[in-house]
Order: sequence, then C-alpha cells, then structure tokens
Amino acid sequence: MNELDTMRHSCAHVMAAAVQEMFPDAQFGFGPPIEDGFYYDFELPRQLSPDDFKEIEQRMRRLAKSADHFEYKEIDGKSAIELFTSMNQTYKVEAINNLVSSGEPISLYKSGPFLDLCRGPHVGTTKQIGHFKILSVAGAYWLGDENNPQLQRLYATSFPTKDELTTHLARLEEARRRDHRILAKQLDLFSTNTDVGAGLILWHPKGGVLREIIENYWREEHRKHNYDIVFTPHIGRKKLWDISGHTQWYQDGLFPEMELENQSFINKPMNCPFHVQIFDSQTRSYRDLPLRYGELGTVYRFERSGVLHGALRVRGFTQDDAHIFCRHDQFAKEVGGALDIAYKMLGTFGFTDLKLIVSVRDENRDKKYVGSDEMWTLAEQGLIDALTEKNIEYQRVEGEAAFYGPKIDVMVEDAIGRQWQLSTIQVDFNLPERFDIDYEDSDGSRRRPVMVHRALLGSIERFTAILIEHFAGAFPVWLAPVQAVLIPIADRHIEYCNEVALKLASHGIRIHVDDRGERMNRKIRDAQKQKVPYMLIAGDRDVEANNVSVRLRNGEDIGAITPSVFAQTVQQVSIDRSESYGFGH
Ligand SMILES: [Zn+2]
Ligand SMILES: [Zn+2]
Repeated sequence: MNELDTMRHSCAHVMAAAVQEMFPDAQFGFGPPIEDGFYYDFELPRQLSPDDFKEIEQRMRRLAKSADHFEYKEIDGKSAIELFTSMNQTYKVEAINNLVSSGEPISLYKSGPFLDLCRGPHVGTTKQIGHFKILSVAGAYWLGDENNPQLQRLYATSFPTKDELTTHLARLEEARRRDHRILAKQLDLFSTNTDVGAGLILWHPKGGVLREIIENYWREEHRKHNYDIVFTPHIGRKKLWDISGHTQWYQDGLFPEMELENQSFINKPMNCPFHVQIFDSQTRSYRDLPLRYGELGTVYRFERSGVLHGALRVRGFTQDDAHIFCRHDQFAKEVGGALDIAYKMLGTFGFTDLKLIVSVRDENRDKKYVGSDEMWTLAEQGLIDALTEKNIEYQRVEGEAAFYGPKIDVMVEDAIGRQWQLSTIQVDFNLPERFDIDYEDSDGSRRRPVMVHRALLGSIERFTAILIEHFAGAFPVWLAPVQAVLIPIADRHIEYCNEVALKLASHGIRIHVDDRGERMNRKIRDAQKQKVPYMLIAGDRDVEANNVSVRLRNGEDIGAITPSVFAQTVQQVSIDRSESYGFGH
C-alpha cells in the first residue's frame, strides 16, 4: 500500500468507528482504499442517506482529535473466531474462516474502541487521516456475489491537504454535471430499462441522429482510405469462435448457446471470424492485398449487472471494427494508415491531446507467444517504425502484448482532464493460422496473410457516452441532434416560423418550432437547457423584414439576419465539422 492509500484506509477505520458509535449493532464487511478514495461496507438497522453524512463526519473529526494509536495485534485463528463471534460480527468471522483455511496469521488493528480484522498498514494515530469527505452510499453484495446479503457501501475520500480535497471535490462535481446517464435522459438521447434487459441501449430519435452522424462520418473517412464496408450477422455458429479461440478465452463473456437443428449458435462476441470468412470466400492473390473490411458490427458480451454503467459499459455494443488482410511487407504501412484515420477522426471530435502506448512482448519471453521470434521482432519493429516515421511519441510497455501479436492503444484526454482509451490497433499472426487462410504469392506458393484488427472509436455506444461527457451535452453544431429552435414571440408569428422552418429543413438544417403556449423567456430557457446551438426568435419586425433574430446557446446575440444567410452559415460549419458557431463566434 502506498502512503496515500495507507492514509485513506486508516480513514476508513475511523469512518467505521463513527458508524459503530451511531449503530452499536452494525456489522462490518471490508473497507479498502480505491482509486481516488476508499469505502467501507456495513450492515445496518436502517438505510443510510446523505443526511447522515454530516453526523458521521462530525464523529470522525472527534475521533481524529483524540489521536488514538493504531495498535497492531496478531492472534491465532481460533481465538480470532471466538473474539469476533462474541462481537456478533458474522462477516468478519466468515472472512477469518477463509484466512484460517489459507493458513495466514490473523492480524488485528485497534484504534480507540474500534477493533478490526486487518492486514494493515496504518498511519500512526487517528489524527493522521487527512482531510476527508463522505461522498455517497450504494448497495453492494457481500463478496460481490448477488446470492449474498446486500450491504451498504459508504464511499468517501481523503487528501493530505484541504486544497487537494477541495480541488478533487470540484472535479467530481464537474464530472457529475457531465454524467452521460443524466444528460442522455435530459436530452432524450437514449435509455435502458429492465424489461429490455440491463446494458442494452435503446437509441431515441435524437440519439439516433447523433449516432447516424458519427457513423456516416466514420464511413466517409473509411471510404476515403479505401476500406470496403461489409455487413455480417448478429449470430453465427459457435464453431467459428471455437476455431478463433474466443469460446475458450472469453467463455465467461459469452451469451449462452442456442441449439437449432443440431447446430449450436451464439451471439457474436467479435466480428473477426466473419471477416475471415469473407476473405476466404475466394482464392486471393498477393496482388489483391491489402484487403480492408470495415464494419460497424454489433457484438454481445455478458457483463455482470453490477459493473454495467450507462452506455460506457454495456452488454451489446457496436464496434467500429475493421480487419486488414495484408502481406508481411505491408502491415507497418497499414498500421500507419489506421493511425492516420484515428488522428483525423479523434481530432475532428475535439480530442487533440493523444497518447500512444505500444504493447510488446516481455523481455524474457516468459509468456507464450504465437508466431516465430523473427515474425514478432518484425511486427514490433514495424509498429515502432510506423510511429517514428510519423514523428509520433509513444510509450513502450513490455509484456502487455496479446499472445497473438503486438498492439497500439490510443488514449485521449477529455475536457476535464480524464483519460479514455479509444483506438486499438492490433497485429495478429494467429487467426490466419487458426482459420488456415492463405493467398498465392508471386512465385505461386501459398502464404499466410497477416491480419490487423482495429477499432478507432472503440464502440459507438461508449464513444457517444464519452462525447456527451466531453461536451457536457453541448455538442458542436455538426453533431447537435437539434441545431436550431425557432421561437415565435406571439401566436401570430407561428405561421411565419413554420415557413422558415420548412425552408431551413430543406437545406438539411435540423430545426424545431417551439409553438407551445409558453412565454418566450421560458422557451429560450428550455432551448438552452436542451443545449440547442441556435435560437431563432421571430416577432413583428422579423416577419416584416423576413428575418430571424439569432441567439447562441452561450447567450450571445447575433442580431437579425435572413433565413438564407443563417442556412448558409450553419451548412458551412457543419460541412467543416467545426467547433465554431459561425458568425465570427
Ligand atoms: Zn485496516
Ligand atoms: Zn478482430
């Protein structure tokens, strides 16, 4: 445990002590440090709510002030079980039983009146637990197993200085404000529900527009780079993934088999075997290569309901997948080409701070790798050459390569400094071998192609969630599901607004007339809440001059202009996929 984790974990003990004061019958689970904080699991006589946090914190402060030492004690398993049984701590007894069977000594830590089963280490006294804050409470199954009782998990954090805590809380608040699950609901983009099944996304009309734009852009870029677009089914015979090895490695991640006419089918967890079949549907010559098959392919993978998270982690998602079949002398160039598309597209979406990680074999070759040493050296060097040639900086990580080939991962930084892994480009010597595919070389011999797997946005679902959080729902004009709302000042301006809307829609502008019987200010406020880039307001003077008064989402007034000037400007910023509103803003 590092210093910060030790401090946070000690703080968890003090939090547990405070909870014990409030609820003498409390039962305790575990309380480890986690990224950015810590938690503790409790079974309590009643549900905790955020109203309780203040009291717990006050008690924690008092316990901290008393500066009790964290005292270490080691006892034998039998005594430990007796001790915690007498304290009526059933979860701790279960935990000790597990430790006893593994033969570990039982170590305890006591601070003030609070005694805990714990391996440590801890800070010296309860005074050294930093500046803390309780953040949330959530249900958590004992040992993460849904067949076990559900406990209450209290999340909290602590930092050495007050400034660090304040900065962290502000960041959390900002992340909450951008939470894609809340914004997706507020902006009516997509939803999930338990009747459909957890982790399966329903795209609503506005989310559908956003998705269509992203996908069309993706297709456009890939066509430009000579990819062929293919379509493959959502299910297929299980034997395909037996050959590819997925049923072996990803068994836990697969949806169960379906038996039909004595054949076994599964929902596809990956698109690769289908693309291999397309390659193999003809005899291929060295002149045909490279072949680049792109597909926005929806795959299904089982994830425990506990780890599902909005559209970031789901059970059905659409990879922006492609497989390149090429000769050994071609793949470095192909990797470079895929990187070009990644840089172009990610940059267009507003991600300009990119980090590259190249994963290669471990130095001692301890792990098992498919393919000859020579091939690997060539592949690793090929990736690095591709990056060097493009003058791209990268971090080289040994031992992180898949057993079938090295890879490049691209990380982006979002608007509030969080890192997301988006693109993956992977060289593969294994699948061509497993599926026994080949091409005819110039000398007439049969040779294995190399496969490059690559997804640049990752998945459309996850990428959309990241975009929502990156832009806090305020998409640039080209991505905005509704680009403009027309607001009549009075009912007598509705007809004019409808005429203008028709004209703008014919120019491809996504527009909506707000003809509700609400006041204008309310309509403006609602359009701002919907994060619509432009509000076009029409009153007597506008109707007379055949104008609209343009106001931007950020509150700035552009003034009165003709609908056709408006249309031209919006079309231009959309074609440019610009982050600007046009009109010099
Ligand atoms: Zn501890
Ligand atoms: Zn693949």
